Amino acid sequence: MEHPLYVYNSLSRRKEQFVPMNPPHAGLYVCGPTVYGDAHLGHARAAVTFDLLYRYLSYIGYKVRYVRNITDVGHLVNDADAGEDKIARKARLEQLEPMEVVQHFTNRYHHNMQQLNVLPPSIEPHASGHIIDQIQLIRKILDAGYAYESNGSVYFDLDRYAKKHPYGTLSGRVLDDLYSQSRELDGQDEKRFPLDFALWKKALPEHIMRWQSPWSDGFPGWHLECTAMSTKYLGETFDIHGGGMDLLFPHHECEIAQSVAALGHESVRYWMHNNMITVNGKKMGKSLGNSVTLNEFFEGAHPLLERAYSPMAIRFFILQAHYRSTIDFSNGALQASEKGLQRLMEGMKTLDNLPASKNSSIDIGDIGQKCHAAMNDDLNSPMVIAHLFDGLRIIHLVNDGKETLSAADLQRLKEVYHRFVEDILGMNSDQPSNRQTDLLNGLVNFMLDMRQQAKANKDFATSDNIRNMMNRLGIEVKDKKDGFEWSIK
Ligand code: ZN
Repeated sequence: MEHPLYVYNSLSRRKEQFVPMNPPHAGLYVCGPTVYGDAHLGHARAAVTFDLLYRYLSYIGYKVRYVRNITDVGHLVNDADAGEDKIARKARLEQLEPMEVVQHFTNRYHHNMQQLNVLPPSIEPHASGHIIDQIQLIRKILDAGYAYESNGSVYFDLDRYAKKHPYGTLSGRVLDDLYSQSRELDGQDEKRFPLDFALWKKALPEHIMRWQSPWSDGFPGWHLECTAMSTKYLGETFDIHGGGMDLLFPHHECEIAQSVAALGHESVRYWMHNNMITVNGKKMGKSLGNSVTLNEFFEGAHPLLERAYSPMAIRFFILQAHYRSTIDFSNGALQASEKGLQRLMEGMKTLDNLPASKNSSIDIGDIGQKCHAAMNDDLNSPMVIAHLFDGLRIIHLVNDGKETLSAADLQRLKEVYHRFVEDILGMNSDQPSNRQTDLLNGLVNFMLDMRQQAKANKDFATSDNIRNMMNRLGIEVKDKKDGFEWSIK
């Protein structure tokens, strides 16, 4: 390839040239959501980051197999293998089947992703659909001597593992420090060491989500599913594993240990992590009351929000920062992004309508090459956006009649803008926000209620007037026995 792509590998802590194992194929695994609630801004950042990578890899010619899982079992309320399963808890509180909770929030997640113009992955495996694969993986780890059974549960033997293999390289944690920070075992504990993590947990009698296994009726540990599903669909060694930086430890560190224990080698060639979003300078968290869901953003329905923001404004806001930098959310920052996006989209519309001249009076430069160079430098989307803003100057000069562009130059410029804005950054313009839709529905229903009233009062002049007005606006009204129905023509 002419211009190589460099990505930052969290394991080696440096930028490395991306060379897939089996070109033109490239494998990408990203940790997906645990579906027990609505997606928030943090979910959007991970999804948009790896959507950008997926789009770019595809654009430069790779056939990408993109696997993003759905965690629907095994993620406990407390990360240290304790507490209730997050989904089972939600199901208990809402008096639903756990799979109803899973389906409900998976549907809502998919809808949010569509609103953000995040492309669906090639495969979206569910943890609960891969219990057999996970049991087989536990067997391999047990056979290799890196796990032990205790009272029907199976734990990873971290102490034994760490004597033979490095542990903590990805997250930079030192095992001795971790031991000194961990709580003492109280003698009742099934684990040999506090940091051993669950591969299989025996289910308590009241636990609903349970499967048969050689050890007990129970359920798999959270870290296990990603090792089982990534290697099942991408092979025992695969190209890229992505996720949020909050997953570095313990989740991804445990994934590495599981692969080395079961397969004798690491599975991942490039680890990539997106940074976190802070809210007004503070960490985002449910308990802090500053974890705003995407639906709340789109409807403006949260005390932290001055008003609603469109999905594209959120997407652009995320892409305006490099994925490895933190982003601080504030209404001001988001409104500035919204303005920038509007300027960019309007500039593109102007470009599409520019007349071609015989000759170009201005050099359009190598904006396309600059954008590619920025993307090849570890997906530097803010730099791409800066180059695109620079190019707007030329577009406006031509539009104002101060400069001219030949048909060929015009075509080249259009090609660059559409490729980067739409195909790679994934921006699209006219999606009405939920708020706009609500407003439209409210106003039309209000007008039609007035028309009903006018008719009831035999004020036919007013009722006809409203109907004609609706017709002119392209709204079709059908009278029904018990009211009316309307649709946009
Ligand atoms: Zn994962």
